[in-house]
Amino acid sequence: MGFNYASVASGSCGNCHYIGFEGTGILVDAGLSGKKVRENLESIELGMDGLKAILITHEHVDHIKGAGILSRKHDIPIYANARTWQEMGDKLGKVSPENIQVFETGRSFDIGSLRIKAFGIHHDAADPVGFCIDNGKKKLSIATDTGCICDEIRGQLHDSDLVVLESNHDVEMLKMGAYPYHLKRRILSSNGHLSNDDAALFCVELANEGVKRVLLAHLSRENNFPELAYETVVGTLKIKGIENISIDVLLRQQASRVYSI
Ligand SMILES: [Zn+2]
Ligand SMILES: [Zn+2]
Repeated sequence: MGFNYASVASGSCGNCHYIGFEGTGILVDAGLSGKKVRENLESIELGMDGLKAILITHEHVDHIKGAGILSRKHDIPIYANARTWQEMGDKLGKVSPENIQVFETGRSFDIGSLRIKAFGIHHDAADPVGFCIDNGKKKLSIATDTGCICDEIRGQLHDSDLVVLESNHDVEMLKMGAYPYHLKRRILSSNGHLSNDDAALFCVELANEGVKRVLLAHLSRENNFPELAYETVVGTLKIKGIENISIDVLLRQQASRVYSI
């Protein structure tokens, strides 16, 4: 049996992913209010029942906003690495000790019958990670909030059945836009966010490795729009003559459909 994946919301205003397998549900990040997470899950006929974990990629508010309240209300353990716990501990409110779970970046751990691997990404946070989630047959990977794609990330993602990949901004829109200089520099740096162009180039690599589906994620509200991210990636694939990969864009405010892989 395969996985179910859905984006609860994805973008600079809040990120949350749902992964379901054989009655076990996990969230990757909970960067919306607890209420909005529940509402968006319900809008695609998913609920909080069966949720066994909230995995945290890094401590920025667009990834942790609702994590504390969801953990308290539904008694769900939160998993993060030690340095992320250090940075976000205060911001979550009180989390009961048994719901504080610590993983190590670079190591695998199990939740139910899912094997999770946290790998390092390049972002201006304490110890930011992406996740590969494997059910023994299929593999799903999430890599957002990374300023660049390195060989480590390539190695983790290349044999995935589904990749959720950041396509944060259009470089020209960002450069011409209203953001202050220091913020532009931060986003463009190799520890910032991945541009549409970089996402497109990486999609070419992923397609050549046999990855069949990529969902473009974490779009900026100010410096991108869904059609532009889509056209940039699909246009690049077309130029390279690649047709065997399917590309979708995850929206900022609403849940995606449920993908079965
Ligand atoms: Zn971030
Ligand atoms: Zn983010």
